[in-house]
Amino acid sequence: MLRIGFDIGGTNIDVGAVDEQNRIVARRKQPFPKGRPYTETVKIMEDLVYELLQETGSTTDDLASIGIGIPGSINVSKGTVISAHNLGFYDVPMRAAVGERFPATPVFLDNDANTATLAEFRMGALRGCRTGVLLTLGTGVGGGLILCGEVFEGGLGHGVELGHMCIDRQGPLCTCGNRGCVETLCSATWLEEQGKKALSESPSSMIGSLARGQMDRVDGKVVIDAAKTGDPTAMDIFDRYVDQLSTALSSYAVLLDPEVMVLGGGVSHAGEFLLEPLRQRVKEKSFFHYTHKIVAAEMGNDAGIIGAALLR
Ligand SMILES: [Zn+2]
Repeated sequence: MLRIGFDIGGTNIDVGAVDEQNRIVARRKQPFPKGRPYTETVKIMEDLVYELLQETGSTTDDLASIGIGIPGSINVSKGTVISAHNLGFYDVPMRAAVGERFPATPVFLDNDANTATLAEFRMGALRGCRTGVLLTLGTGVGGGLILCGEVFEGGLGHGVELGHMCIDRQGPLCTCGNRGCVETLCSATWLEEQGKKALSESPSSMIGSLARGQMDRVDGKVVIDAAKTGDPTAMDIFDRYVDQLSTALSSYAVLLDPEVMVLGGGVSHAGEFLLEPLRQRVKEKSFFHYTHKIVAAEMGNDAGIIGAALLR
C-alpha cells in the first residue's frame, strides 16, 4: 500500500508516494497556481496522484491515505483551511474537495509545522520522546510540540504558534502585527537583514567577501559562514542571534520541561557551531539547572512529505 503526502507551499506543490517503510518511492513538484481558485490546486493534486500511481505501477486500490500539509490555520476535525495567507486560501473545504476525487481513500489535512513535527517524532530527532519541541528557523519561524507522546493540536484545535511568542515588547514589527515575536528575532531573515546592514556599513568585512560585495548574495548562511571564519562583525551578529534564540528556547523550556528541543530549517545547518553556545546560553537563562538537550532536526526537506503521509 502507498500513502501520498502533499507539502503545499506558496511557491511549489511537493508530493511523494511513501511506502510502508516510510520511504519516498516517487515524487513530483509543480508550481503552486498563485492567485487562482483553490479548485485549480485540487485539480493539480489529482493529476499528481495519478502520475505517482502510474510511476509506481499502482492503482487507487493501493492508496492507503492522502495527507496534506498546509502553511496556515487548519480546522483538523472539519478538514478545512481557515486561512493560509501565502496560498490565498480562506475557508477552503480542502479535505472534502480532495476526497471527492478519491472517494475510497481517507484524506487528512494538517498544518505544515505539525506534519514536520510528526515526521521528526516518528522517524527523526523527536523519536521516542513524550515531550518535545520542534522549531523551524527559516524565512519565518514555525514549530510544533509533542505533548504526552502526541502532536499537540492546540487546546481549541488552532495549533501552536511558537514563532509568534513575544520575546521583546520593543522589538521589530512582525508580519502578524505584533512586535518582537520570536520570528522577527530568530529567523534566517533577521540574520540576512543584519548581514546586509553590516555590509553597507563596513564593505571590507568577511560578509562582503563571501557575498562577493553583492548585497543580494547576503543571506543567513553567508553571515554564519563569515562568523565561522572569526570575522568580528559577523561574530557579533551571530552572538546576538544566539542570545535571542536562547531567550525563546529558555521560555519554551520553563513552560514545558521538554526532554528535547529540535531545531530545523536553514539556520540549523550551522550544526554545533550554533548548538553548543546555544545550550550554554539556554542553561544560563533557564530556571532549571540542567543542560537541555538541543539538537538539529534529522528529516530535512522530506519532513513535509513524509509527515503528511503519516497523518491518520
Ligand atoms: Zn508575530
